[in-house]
Amino acid sequence: MKCSAHQAEAVAICAYCGRALCPDCAKPAASPRLTCSADCAAALMRNDQALQILLQKHVQGARINAIFYLLCGALSVAGAVGAYYYLPSPFLIWFCAGCGFVFLASGLWQWLAARKKNSGG
Ligand SMILES: [Zn+2]
Ligand SMILES: [Zn+2]
Repeated sequence: MKCSAHQAEAVAICAYCGRALCPDCAKPAASPRLTCSADCAAALMRNDQALQILLQKHVQGARINAIFYLLCGALSVAGAVGAYYYLPSPFLIWFCAGCGFVFLASGLWQWLAARKKNSGG
């Protein structure tokens, strides 16, 4: 593969636009990845920042999911208790209790996953 600007053999590819780069073109930029120009380096940096924001939003979303699951779990457990007192139906009681347990477990799992993602690496 030849460099897109020179007749030299390409040694790298621009991390943003995919252009072939010879040693002359592949200048070390602020980014750890090689780019063909300052424009590509800047665009790559913007992409990275957008990805970071997206990841943070994902963590927030997981936390909201966790709260939703915990609420559903609490409601289901309340339903099971209510069924125990007001409805003589073992099936309904166990159904509500089972749903509550699954919701609570899911909520806890989501909460821990969100915390793990937020705390590091
Ligand atoms: Zn480029
Ligand atoms: Zn070149």
